[in-house]
Amino acid sequence: MTRYFLQKTLSQSVSVAGTGVHSGKQAHLTIKPALENHGIKFRRLDLPGTQDIQALFKLVVDTSLATVLGTNGAIVSTIEHLMASFAGLGIDNALVELNDYEIPIMDGSAKVFTQLIKKTGIVEQAAPKQFFIVKKPIKVIDDDKSVIVYPESCFKITCGIDFTHPLIGKQKITFDRAKNNFEKEISYARTFGFIQDLELLKKFSLGKGGSLDNAIVIDKDKILNEEGLRYPDEFVRHKLLDSLGDFSLLGMPIQGHIVTYKSGHTLNHLFIKTFLENNDAWETGPIKI
Ligand SMILES: [Zn+2]
Repeated sequence: MTRYFLQKTLSQSVSVAGTGVHSGKQAHLTIKPALENHGIKFRRLDLPGTQDIQALFKLVVDTSLATVLGTNGAIVSTIEHLMASFAGLGIDNALVELNDYEIPIMDGSAKVFTQLIKKTGIVEQAAPKQFFIVKKPIKVIDDDKSVIVYPESCFKITCGIDFTHPLIGKQKITFDRAKNNFEKEISYARTFGFIQDLELLKKFSLGKGGSLDNAIVIDKDKILNEEGLRYPDEFVRHKLLDSLGDFSLLGMPIQGHIVTYKSGHTLNHLFIKTFLENNDAWETGPIKI
């Protein structure tokens, strides 16, 4: 009998509360299981009657500080780390209920979401998972930054960074779905920022909930967090986490090898747009195990 990779959802609902990094407001979040082919959707409980917001690239309305989705007057902000958890754990279907507009930042990584979902349990559903199956390379290049996908029968993302800062420098890491290395190697990696950028954000009254509890803060030659780093190359691991969250907005995982160099949300989103436009370079469908 032919066996395919199957769609997945949570075995039951799970809730968590925390502060929005930009709003500074407390928000409560419940992740519920959903039926096959539902995808990931967000529901604003504080705006009853508004349409659910599907986690798709075409609904991205802002990416300047966080990834924001919106439709018909309702928005949901700072979705990237939760989306990375879904993508990293292979969850296709879930309904996320929220009582405010911003997903809580937690510790600046995807650790809490990932552990909660894993503890709750993940179940396979009857319908085959749908993939983008890459047939020809697709690339976006901006100066020395790039995102390229190669046709390969794997599910890999490799990120490389090169910062002049002495504590970061050159770093590279690969997520490989076949090795299931998301939780241990990627999900704990926190957001990072340079102290001068944080001061600028505060001046514009954004980043209200931002603190050493939810970001690695870097000064000229040191890290301000007392506990130090979770991995020596935590920076590139977080880049990979962000990339997983960004690329998940394609709505289906990619079969192929995505390689990013010095990329960020903006170039990742340009890649998604280019990818979707180049529809002769991929096909969609289920994949045999
Ligand atoms: Zn991030």
